[in-house]
Amino acid sequence: METLVIAGNGPAGCTAAVYAARAGLSPLVLAGNTPGGLLTQTSEVENFPGFADGITGFDLVMNMQTQAEKFGARVEYESITAVDFRPAPPHKLTLSDGRVIETKVLIIASGAAPRYLGVPGEDRLRGNGVSACATCDGAFYKDLPVVVAGGGDSAMEEALFLTRFASEVHLVHRRDQFRASRIMVERAQNHPKITFHLNARIVEVLGENNVSGVKLEDTVSGEFSELPCRAVFAALGHLPCSEIFARAGIKADRSGYIITDGHTASTNIPGVFAAGDCADPRYRQAIIAAGSGAKAAMDAEKFLAEH
Ligand code: NDP
Repeated sequence: METLVIAGNGPAGCTAAVYAARAGLSPLVLAGNTPGGLLTQTSEVENFPGFADGITGFDLVMNMQTQAEKFGARVEYESITAVDFRPAPPHKLTLSDGRVIETKVLIIASGAAPRYLGVPGEDRLRGNGVSACATCDGAFYKDLPVVVAGGGDSAMEEALFLTRFASEVHLVHRRDQFRASRIMVERAQNHPKITFHLNARIVEVLGENNVSGVKLEDTVSGEFSELPCRAVFAALGHLPCSEIFARAGIKADRSGYIITDGHTASTNIPGVFAAGDCADPRYRQAIIAAGSGAKAAMDAEKFLAEH
């Protein structure tokens, strides 16, 4: 029987592991399908306090993991394939290697995955112009033209953020109606650096080794055109990795984000806590995830002491 299992080893999972390991709980961390989480897919992280010269996402997460292991956390590169939440712990987890384990406490830190366009060229150029995080990668495109795809608040926010660096920001949206709030749309529309391309679908990301442009299809006329740019930011929403837990009874919102008690990391299931992007529809920043991981570990420790 495990005392504490942590699902995910991104900033939330690793920070939870550091805190729990230091509290002597010897947590088992399941690294899952994307070891290190989304952060490992960004290049340089310049906004995580404590690293004045920046650090790669991969190094940052590996440092956190090493720190957790130093205090007794155990990391296994398995994911959870099935969950059986009981009315009270222990909870039963089936792992990708077929093992079934029981745990008194589970911290879900399974992250969220950005939605991408799923068009030719996109996968191949990811990290070489294709990104889903303007905050992480925007500064690399100083004085260069960039494209943002999407029509939600994220797209508006990413477009506005990118005006700090890019020479031109082209917002490409497949409809002429927006999910984004009016104020955000107006702010973006009124910005001199931002050009809207509506009823336009990106059908291909162009470029050999780096992004050189996108191929657009006008959804009204059916005509194709090319728009030169050096980066494409997908701002198409995120998909929280919560499905397996929601199916087993964890409460999540309509978009799949796990609902935690306002002040703690508690979920609706006793002994199950959630931290990081899988429970954060709003911020999705490494530093926020790390902080919520610390909260979850402290809540887990308290739960174990009380039960
Ligand atoms: P949304 O789901 O609101 O918007 C996603 C956008 O991407 C939609 O315009 C959608 O188009 C488009 N899209 C999705 N899939 C594709 C595809 N395959 N090809 C082309 N376009 C696609 O996600 P957001 O991340 O923008 O927002 C999520 C939540 O976070 C919202 O509640 C939002 O209000 C909130 N948020 C708030 C902010 C703020 O208040 N400052 C900032 C950022 C987010 P379509 O409309 O045609 O479906």
